[in-house]
Amino acid sequence: MKQEEKECIFCKIVRGEIKSDIVYSDDNFIAFLDINPKAEGHTVIVSKKHFRNLLDMPTTLGNEMLEVVKNVSLDLIKQGKAEGFNLVVNNEPVAGQIVFHAHIHILPRKKDDGLKMLV
Ligand code: AMP
Ligand code: ZN
Repeated sequence: MKQEEKECIFCKIVRGEIKSDIVYSDDNFIAFLDINPKAEGHTVIVSKKHFRNLLDMPTTLGNEMLEVVKNVSLDLIKQGKAEGFNLVVNNEPVAGQIVFHAHIHILPRKKDDGLKMLV
């Protein structure tokens, strides 16, 4: 295992070394609640294999990841935790990336929740 994978916080979650509130898991992806939620149900979808960010991920895996994002988002809506949602992907420090392991944020939205987005 590479040193960066040993130390990576999301790799540790994938390996079960750090506890998290897992809401979905399959062969290639895991989804868990963000430890510092910006909204109720704030979820991150993470590839089980370590990539620095979205640019390093093979496109085929990206397609699969989008399907997981759609399914988890749909679950949030079905559970009444979201009426809609925003997806956020921070790539590189200048864009606010803190954890250097490919992931997509799902931010559940509700009417008048006051959450401000960049765009
Ligand atoms: P970013 O790299 O800016 O997209 O953000 C990484 C996200 O990971 C932040 O929203 C953190 O709150 C979240 N995070 C960091 N450590 C953990 C953890 N152990 N469990 C769940 N979420 C985490
Ligand atoms: Zn990692």
